[in-house]
Amino acid sequence: MRGIVGFDLLRLDGYMAMETEELDGKLYVDTIITNPIIERCNCDAPDRVKHGKRVVHFRDHPIQRQETYLRITRQRYRCRNCGTILLEHLHHIDEKRRMTRRFLHQLAEDGIAMKFSMGGEINGVKESLVRRVFKEEAARRLSHYSFELPRVLGMDEKVLGGHPRFVIGDVEKRVLLDILISRKQTNLEEYFRQWEHSDRMKVEVITQDMHWPYKTLNETYFKGATVVIDKFHVLRYADFAVSEVRKSIQSKVDNEERIKLKNQIGLLRARPERLGIGDEFRLKTLFKRHPAIEQAVLFKEWFYDIYQCETRSEAEKAYDSWRELLPKELEHPFRKVLSYMREKRWRRLIFNYFDHKYTNAYVEATNNLLDEISRGGRGYDLQTLRAKALLKYGTKRLIDIYDFSIRLNDPDYDKIMNTMVGHGISLSTFEIDLRAGAFD
Ligand SMILES: [Zn+2]
Repeated sequence: MRGIVGFDLLRLDGYMAMETEELDGKLYVDTIITNPIIERCNCDAPDRVKHGKRVVHFRDHPIQRQETYLRITRQRYRCRNCGTILLEHLHHIDEKRRMTRRFLHQLAEDGIAMKFSMGGEINGVKESLVRRVFKEEAARRLSHYSFELPRVLGMDEKVLGGHPRFVIGDVEKRVLLDILISRKQTNLEEYFRQWEHSDRMKVEVITQDMHWPYKTLNETYFKGATVVIDKFHVLRYADFAVSEVRKSIQSKVDNEERIKLKNQIGLLRARPERLGIGDEFRLKTLFKRHPAIEQAVLFKEWFYDIYQCETRSEAEKAYDSWRELLPKELEHPFRKVLSYMREKRWRRLIFNYFDHKYTNAYVEATNNLLDEISRGGRGYDLQTLRAKALLKYGTKRLIDIYDFSIRLNDPDYDKIMNTMVGHGISLSTFEIDLRAGAFD
């Protein structure tokens, strides 16, 4: 079916639609270039002659939900001087992708805003094309991704796809600032070198786990910051002690008792004060059968209580008494706590918590959710996840932040203004989207 176009159908500067033709369910719009500009060769006096025509097709926005192509008869020329074939220049068209730039841009935007499959559906293209376009666009926009270092910087690791990844956040604002593929020290050094010394000096507190390379990193790069060991990472090793004691008992008892103990793992993991009456009774019965477990739980709870102290000196005293009264037989199960608490290791940094009561708990819910999703077998590619989250709501273009009424006289003006600056990913929004599978 053919039709004559009587108005500016395309609204694309430099082109004019003349006719349309429907072929195999696709719409072809015969388009002319209104003011053709011909490419130049390098001759001082080019001698150009016509050299045939070629019909070319470029994908554009669907018209009435129909797959639409601009059909352009492109005039070719040849320079008689140098033999170069010269073409009419095609404005607003990406010749590599064979589509208009505005359509390409739409695919990239939809790739950011929605699931790739949906982006494909509404634009009438394959999901894989939306994904590819998104990846290219993300790489371009995020090649200079940066953010302002927060006052309280959270460093945490998360095992994703079998590898420990490095998660950086603003602890006070409870936002995620970046996810790095690895936390190998060399990578982190390179990463933090992007900030000037004076910017790094603005970081006052760093919360981290007990990963030794962080220590040297922070001593080098964040000289002005107080490092606080995340309290949940410390407490984890007190829980570990209880399960050690339970396991050693399990290995000595008969089958029936072993199964009973295994079934009560949850009971031992919970904080006793939060147990209901039924569970409390079950726990007491268990303690009667195994006083060694009761003792371990007692010392674990006492260790937890240290974190209730108001001041650092109170906490240090509380720990020292705990240590003094810890029975010999519990030293082995609590060996990790004892080791981390050594002066030469993390003691000072663990007690820094009492001067700056920050933890990495802000990112915990997201971590759990990521675990839940990986357990559910939904694999995702971390690079895509990061890029999509950052572009969707974790960044702003400089141009949107500063309203420059005078155009800077800089050849890189556009590049500078389009630089993406991070302001952090709100974890609650991130979680909602993760659950909805928005990053698929
Ligand atoms: Zn020439």
